[in-house]
Amino acid sequence: MTPRDLPALTVGELQEVLRRREVSPQEALVALHERITEVDPEIGAYLSLDLEAALRMAETADLDLPLGGVPIAIKDNINVAGQPCTCASRMLRDYRSPYDATVITKLKKAGAIPFGKTNLDEFAMGSSTENSSVRTTLNPWDFSRVAGGSSGGSAAAVSANTAFAALGTDTGGSVRQPASLTGVVGMKPTYGRVSRFGLTAFASSLDQVGPLTKNVRDCALIMNALSGADPQDSTSLPVPVPDHTAQLGRDIRGLRLGVAKEHATTGIDPQVQRLVRAATDHFAALGAEIVGISLPHTDYSVAAYYVLATAEASANLARFDGVRYGYRADGPVGLLDHYERTRAEGFGREVKRRIILGTYVLSSGYYEAYYSRAQKIRELIRRDFARVFEQVDAVISPASPVPAFKTGERDSDPLQMYLADIFTIPANLTGICGLSIPCGFAESPDGVPLPVGLQLLGPALDEARLLQIAYAYERTTEWHRQRPPLSARKEFAA
Ligand code: GLN
Repeated sequence: MTPRDLPALTVGELQEVLRRREVSPQEALVALHERITEVDPEIGAYLSLDLEAALRMAETADLDLPLGGVPIAIKDNINVAGQPCTCASRMLRDYRSPYDATVITKLKKAGAIPFGKTNLDEFAMGSSTENSSVRTTLNPWDFSRVAGGSSGGSAAAVSANTAFAALGTDTGGSVRQPASLTGVVGMKPTYGRVSRFGLTAFASSLDQVGPLTKNVRDCALIMNALSGADPQDSTSLPVPVPDHTAQLGRDIRGLRLGVAKEHATTGIDPQVQRLVRAATDHFAALGAEIVGISLPHTDYSVAAYYVLATAEASANLARFDGVRYGYRADGPVGLLDHYERTRAEGFGREVKRRIILGTYVLSSGYYEAYYSRAQKIRELIRRDFARVFEQVDAVISPASPVPAFKTGERDSDPLQMYLADIFTIPANLTGICGLSIPCGFAESPDGVPLPVGLQLLGPALDEARLLQIAYAYERTTEWHRQRPPLSARKEFAA
């Protein structure tokens, strides 16, 4: 194993070579850093890197811990003490975190080393990272395309082997959709499974932190580290945490997987449709029972989400007023001018659109027509899933209706962009868990292979079961081993 080979390892593989003392955590970090220096300038997955701080942590890494010595990249809306936390916004351009988010404390307790903060859509609002105030993260499979969003930096880094694994956040699909578009595994845990203390809030009734990894086992390992009640987050659930790896390798014979008839009608790319159908057949061949189901309120989920998420965002983002921290406009004339100019200059276009929309749907004249109604739809969707999970163990669908789209293609059409989350949003509205795993490649018009993700949704707190099902698929397929041919391209260029 030469240092150049290290970044391609999974978390599980890295742990083995670390524990056998074949490489030290410092060597792994340096090798990863070199790989990042080499390929990230083009991709743009990282916003900041602090090798010194990571090397200091590596000195005392306890390799016997579950994630001992493993570097993990962190989306830049999660606080890591001493590191920037910009949320890819001008508003927090110079902000440094005074404390660790609970997920960071937990990762550190498990022996992991947070290393690097990754790009996102500003305040996690978007599906392509094009709303980042810094730059767009490009898809490692095709630099003319997006990596998805809002956790596009985390997904691209795992895909490009510039991270062993990463944390993202998922409010409406922001872990699963970019995982799907870049060919990696991404999980949104059950609402309340993972603490949000130290996550910059976007929509508090929907936000969850989740892992992006190279395979299902790594996802399970990181879920073990992240999960559990937290006194600092009153929405975290006081329930025991299972070992998420315990059911990996168990037979899925007799498990029931639901395919919703409403999912077949929502403008899916034919190649995506074909691959998801093939994956469904594969599950049948593994002994799962495929069951036709109905989720009648599917069509309303995107609309309900964009009312609720913007309403919550308008409240959460009120704190960015330039008084105590963050960007502050120069030379204001009075307090109102200070607020207005700070927010006008500090926030980007999409964030402003959401704040305006959210304020509108909460305003007294329209509250009933929008916010209240969206809450009712949310309840109907919750009942749809409650009923379905009496019939099936998990629901299969695409994670995204389309493979990675071209940069700029949807930038001027927010509605088209919002539709990228049609399959992922219901899990956030209902609080259930979901994940995306690679299930094949579509071919772009230029003949470039583009990864496609399969989504599995499960009932609340059933992550271990979802991982069992995903693992049964993964270990009998090869999709998750495919990596974009970046180094080949580089060597060719050199
Ligand atoms: N794309 C969705 C949005 O723009 C979801 C974002 C997310 O999950 N953070 O709101």
